[in-house]
Amino acid sequence: MRPSRRALPRLSVALAVLLMAGLGAAAPARGTEFPKGWEGYHSYTELTTEIAQVAAAHPDIVKLFSIGQSYKGRQLWAVKVSDNVGVDENEPEVLFDGSHHSDEHMGVEMTLHIFHWLVDGYGTDPRITNIVNTREIYIVFLVNPDGAEYDIHGGRYWFWRKNRQATPGSTAIGTDLNRNYGYRWGLGGRTSSNPLAITYHGPRPFSAPETRAMRDFLASRVVDGRQQIRAAISFHELGRLVMWPYGYTLTDIPADMTADDHAALARIGRHMATTNGYRPEQASDLYITRGTTKDYEYGTYRIFAYTFEMSIKDYPDDSKIASETGRNREAVLYLMERAGCPYAVLGAALRIARCGAFDDDLEVARGWTVNPDGTDTAPAAGRFARADPAPTSRFGSKQLGTATSGRDVLVTGSRAGAKPTASDLDGSSTVRSAAIDLPATSGQHLTFRYVFAHDAASTSADTFKAVVEAQDGTRTEVFGLTGKPVDTDGRWRSASISMDPWAGQTVHLRFEAVDGGPGNLVEVEIDDVRITQPS
Ligand SMILES: [Zn+2]
Repeated sequence: MRPSRRALPRLSVALAVLLMAGLGAAAPARGTEFPKGWEGYHSYTELTTEIAQVAAAHPDIVKLFSIGQSYKGRQLWAVKVSDNVGVDENEPEVLFDGSHHSDEHMGVEMTLHIFHWLVDGYGTDPRITNIVNTREIYIVFLVNPDGAEYDIHGGRYWFWRKNRQATPGSTAIGTDLNRNYGYRWGLGGRTSSNPLAITYHGPRPFSAPETRAMRDFLASRVVDGRQQIRAAISFHELGRLVMWPYGYTLTDIPADMTADDHAALARIGRHMATTNGYRPEQASDLYITRGTTKDYEYGTYRIFAYTFEMSIKDYPDDSKIASETGRNREAVLYLMERAGCPYAVLGAALRIARCGAFDDDLEVARGWTVNPDGTDTAPAAGRFARADPAPTSRFGSKQLGTATSGRDVLVTGSRAGAKPTASDLDGSSTVRSAAIDLPATSGQHLTFRYVFAHDAASTSADTFKAVVEAQDGTRTEVFGLTGKPVDTDGRWRSASISMDPWAGQTVHLRFEAVDGGPGNLVEVEIDDVRITQPS
């Protein structure tokens, strides 16, 4: 509930109503309707009308917008629900989306129900009120409107799953949107390169306008280098499953996932499954998939991303809408509540360590700037970079090939090169964090893991420092090491520094490494940079 750093683009309700009327989009002139017995489901036209009406009735907590257009030009409607909805507050964000697969219509009803729970409960239900006041919730109701409309045209079902995009060089229509995301896009399991297949992954990642719109929306929620969305559910049918990443591999904790993340993802997933009666499992336990929404969301941004497979039969009729959506109410509320600190489900120690003002395992980009002042003297190959470090050895291990969590670290001269000195620092390099808002409480600590290794030619000109840059630009060295003429092998060590002098301020962290002699070998690695909760 801190002040905004950036205003969101706003699509007014008036404009939305114009678009709804078909003036801004190539939507069909006549609305299609579901077959008899399924009229309780929302067609695209009915969905558009309903969300515009609800948004207009709750302007204080709802902002209606479009994340882009489908292949056929339909708006991909979304809402933001939060207090002070016109302001981008510093609150954990949650994303729900429905019906990437157009024959899985219950996903639309699910996202609509979540929307209604929030707006109807706000101000009357204390739990909902608290969620809306302390979170920013985004809902993308229907990712695949072209397919959904096609699936019901003519008053019957066409069992249509993909979008309605023409495939270049083929007469086949449609890409499987939940195979078209750009994280480890490719082949494996139920993922096809055949344009005729229902799991066709498209000619290239993000070839579909609908997945590009999702990609661009997710990217728009990166503020100050950090993804604001912490948790997400993508609603599919069928099977009554809660699934967590990854889908692309059977390995539980591959190199692109940390052990903490896996433990928290599984713990939260299993808890949600106890509330809705679903079966909890890693997505690949159902079958291998590539290019899915949740793999992209977690792999790219470390969003705690789930797929829910709703229902137990294909095309459940109207009578199932209330029960199939209602059984997910507790899971949805629980995930929104956990989004503030997903690691808290693993205990108080992890909550304190990982849910303070800053938490970076260095596995994804979180806003570090290399050479922020333009004064680095190290060659490009020797400067800090976020990378999977190659091990180097010279009279013992110098640059370690391991991280303290996951795979990546901040490292000077990440590559091994032809000889140990090939990617050496040879000069100075600095890396600066994005802005960090410190709560006005004492007891917060900057903690990080580091390696500082050098050979016997080292001198006091070789240094490694941590610096806090205050709001007024004042820089304070809070941690410093200097070289000695002793061969010192690489070893992961821990640092902990009180941040009390900066409580209540917005600061930047800086790490500075200097290799003072061109013949010296200096290696610096940093991992798990955190500002802890007060303890
Ligand atoms: Zn699906």
